[in-house]
Amino acid sequence: MTEHRAATLSDLPENDPTEVAVGDRKVVLVRQASSVFAVAATCPHKGVPLKMGAVKDGKLICPAHRAMFDLESGDLLAPPACESIASYPVRVDGEDVYVTVEPDQPEHPLPAHAGRGDDPRRFVILGSGAAGWRAAETLRREGFEGTINVVTDEGPVPLDRTGFSKGYLNSGETPALRDESTVAKLGIEVVKGRATGITPALKTVNLDGGVSLDYDALLIATGCDPRKLDVPGADLEGIHMIRGMADADALREDIESRAKAGPVRVAIVGAGFIGLEAATNLNKRDGVEVTVVTPEARPLAKLFGDAFGDRLLSEHREAGIEMRTETRVTGFAGSRRVEALETEGGDSIPCDIAIVAIGAKPRTEWLPFETLQDGGIGVDDKLAVAGVEDIYAAGDIAQLPTPWGDVRIEHWRFAQELGELAARNMLGQGARYAGTPFFWSMQQPNGSYSYTGHAESWDDARGAPDGDSFQVEYVTGGRKAAVLALGFDDDLTKLTLEMAGTGPVADA
Ligand SMILES: Cc1cc2nc3c(=O)[nH]c(=O)nc-3n(C[C@H](O)[C@H](O)[C@H](O)COP(=O)(O)OP(=O)(O)OC[C@H]3O[C@@H](n4cnc5c(N)ncnc54)[C@H](O)[C@@H]3O)c2cc1C
Repeated sequence: MTEHRAATLSDLPENDPTEVAVGDRKVVLVRQASSVFAVAATCPHKGVPLKMGAVKDGKLICPAHRAMFDLESGDLLAPPACESIASYPVRVDGEDVYVTVEPDQPEHPLPAHAGRGDDPRRFVILGSGAAGWRAAETLRREGFEGTINVVTDEGPVPLDRTGFSKGYLNSGETPALRDESTVAKLGIEVVKGRATGITPALKTVNLDGGVSLDYDALLIATGCDPRKLDVPGADLEGIHMIRGMADADALREDIESRAKAGPVRVAIVGAGFIGLEAATNLNKRDGVEVTVVTPEARPLAKLFGDAFGDRLLSEHREAGIEMRTETRVTGFAGSRRVEALETEGGDSIPCDIAIVAIGAKPRTEWLPFETLQDGGIGVDDKLAVAGVEDIYAAGDIAQLPTPWGDVRIEHWRFAQELGELAARNMLGQGARYAGTPFFWSMQQPNGSYSYTGHAESWDDARGAPDGDSFQVEYVTGGRKAAVLALGFDDDLTKLTLEMAGTGPVADA
């Protein structure tokens, strides 16, 4: 055990995280009056320095993706981080601040959790994605000692699929959320298989291969499938979609194999988040030429406004990506493999590989309940499915009432929040959504674009999406419902907490 003099009180502005060196470790100090808290210097999620974070209501919030930690204990409070941060003992002697660091203390410990114990109950979770996996870990964190079966047709470990349209396309570095030894430590049993039916009256779920599992509580978190483009030639070889690791691997391998014969022309159908991320990342590869084709005049303008759509257009064009706007794809040409996209206007866009990225559709068609028009499942504010006992739904498939209205949102952190909420309610805690929707996309030199709150439509978009740092506020019914931003800002980070549980805030 080694105590180090780390700072003087006057070095530490109140509530402003300050990074210091303590021995050979970096530590973040936060002073509140004459008390000082010392925690790990980086967020476990993507290693972002927490000195850039914000402090509010005893929480330290990562500015990049909004993971939250208890300032005093370092305990994990909100996703997307999966670990806590180390908290170090502090002694203040007059003006001097001393911090004790154990040399073998992990910076990012696994949150405290129960193991498999005597509880005879079995909770079954369908899907090992953002929502399903988070639910499984939350059950253990909340002290559940029964059996947890996570049924998945992916695996064997849970993966962070947000990387599959980004760096993974070039690096192939597996974005695992947990390794097999941690899964075992958590006492979570991963069952490889595909759920094919549920009999609510018998409380059983059927898997392919004839296996069936009894459950005391069931969570459906089966996520989405990419939408197919239903046009002639859609089954030709060389046409890809991206959802899981196998898709990203197949795309990468196809590009690498075609690259042996010369430059590879990749045509991407769709200019949503996944299409644009794939375009940006594939465009970084030597010998790959990327064209994006979209029926819209400006990408994502419907959600974020024309000015941001214009920004995206010029940003992608400046990077050397060909952006074909107001162009609708009506077919794929080729004999065995795709050779070109055909457009409504009669054009032919030659390509060696095509990627279809036109949105996603909930994987719910096999369920014995009525689904919503978009394939989602309507749930109540506790994520319970109406008319059946002890069945919950979370993640991309769930439409739930929130202060932003009835929403079904397809984003990683939100899916994780719903996974946590579902777990609490499987344990009978009667919890309701008390977070703030948030997502990030498209890495920029100065961070990623981020979006806090939710506004499917808005009366006014205030602010210009210009330069290396900006905020655009979306105001509806006189209230600020969402903010699109580039760059970090304490007020924006704190807005996440202000909106939590209450929704859009009064427009100052
Ligand atoms: C390429 C890509 C990039 C993304 N990037 C971002 C990003 O940058 N930021 C962001 O906020 N969001 C991003 N998203 C969205 C985000 O990943 C999803 O919102 C999130 O994963 C949804 O979580 P989920 O648990 O509902 O579903 P998923 O994570 O899709 O998990 C569903 C799981 O259920 C399994 N499953 C499905 N059906 C069955 C069945 N019948 N039986 C057994 N298992 C089944 C699937 O195999 C999977 O394991 C991205 C999505 C993709 C595809």
